[in-house]
Amino acid sequence: MKFRIPRGTQDLLPGEVEKWQYVEEKAKELCRRYHFSEVRTPVFEQTSLFQRGVGETTDIVEKEMYTFEDRGGRSLTLRPEGTASVVRSFVENKLYADTPPTKLYYIGPMFRYERPQAGRQRQFHQFGVEVFGTEEPDVDAEIIDLGYRFYRATGLADVKVELNSVGCPRCRPVHREALVEYLTPHKEELCKDCQSRLERNPMRILDCKNESCHRITEGAPKVIDFLCDHCGPHFDSVKEALELLEVPFHVNTRLVRGLDYYTQTAFEFVLEGKGGGSLGGGGRYNGLVEEVGGPETPGIGFAVGLERVLMALEQQEVELPLQTGVDCFLVTLGAEAKKHGVTLLKQLREAGLSAERDYLDRKMKGQMKAADRARAAYVAILGENELAENRVKVKNLATGDQETIQLDKLVDYIRDVSK
Ligand SMILES: [Zn+2]
Ligand SMILES: [Zn+2]
Repeated sequence: MKFRIPRGTQDLLPGEVEKWQYVEEKAKELCRRYHFSEVRTPVFEQTSLFQRGVGETTDIVEKEMYTFEDRGGRSLTLRPEGTASVVRSFVENKLYADTPPTKLYYIGPMFRYERPQAGRQRQFHQFGVEVFGTEEPDVDAEIIDLGYRFYRATGLADVKVELNSVGCPRCRPVHREALVEYLTPHKEELCKDCQSRLERNPMRILDCKNESCHRITEGAPKVIDFLCDHCGPHFDSVKEALELLEVPFHVNTRLVRGLDYYTQTAFEFVLEGKGGGSLGGGGRYNGLVEEVGGPETPGIGFAVGLERVLMALEQQEVELPLQTGVDCFLVTLGAEAKKHGVTLLKQLREAGLSAERDYLDRKMKGQMKAADRARAAYVAILGENELAENRVKVKNLATGDQETIQLDKLVDYIRDVSK
């Protein structure tokens, strides 16, 4: 029987996984600078959490969840996104009792039953952040800035932010009414989905990709023209802060988020050029914590798909500065030298250097080949003669330069040249 990897999943092998580590490292480093702490939640949760927290009527919940019953008869679901779990954890652990704001980030696998295609897997990975406990517009701008800097740090230079405000439960119904009034005479020209959205969720019609819907909505009432005296100034302040932070953005009034608990700021990161398109996005969700059973707490976050980032980096031919080789490969000749090599290797590693040796009793030529395969920067050659003289030969594999140094200076030597 031949085992095969499940459809829509992938093995990240050496050669590829270093790129992932690089990108994840950038995310972690930025989060450290912006004073976010990591949170790790389980990959499965009660199914009802996602029905509540993601939304019963969303495609994710209706069609894409990995839901199963465990041996105790509980309905569990592999998390299809990160926010619901983080909110659950925030509420369950009473993090709201700490002085706000609470700033959290996560990196990990998510699961959706979708048609696998380039950049879209059934097990995929997201980096996301959430801030709880403040409505301060500077925070909206700060996390947009964080997302923007993250892409820049990975090497994606041409990322722009699309920004909108979707209002609040006070101003949205006024817009909704105007929108329905505007669209109703055109009902027959809307696509099937949008005809049903007209009653359930008319705002979603604004971001329908159907040509006819797009044309009809061109002159439709925009949410930003209906913002109340709370949401209007909030939106202006977000824009002002983004300008101070030098984050390029433009207002896209078609950018909407479908669920009732989404409020005010909505944004998307869009890549220009080769392999361009949406890279991720987020927004404010002032009603979500309550929805999940917590006290009224404003929140805002974003999530970015790491597969999408990795694919974009490749399409834009960004060279990542990956260091995959070892600092020193130890070649030994003869039993005595080999024995001494055990100590040398230990000393190199203790000094924080990466070091490797041959474990197959290869001859000199074979060991040198192994050093090449390990992409060693330096090879240290220790034979019987060198050992007798307390010396070791050091060869720079890139230049071919070679010199003989004192044996007890090897660690310092490699450390100096590896800086
Ligand atoms: Zn409002
Ligand atoms: Zn439509």
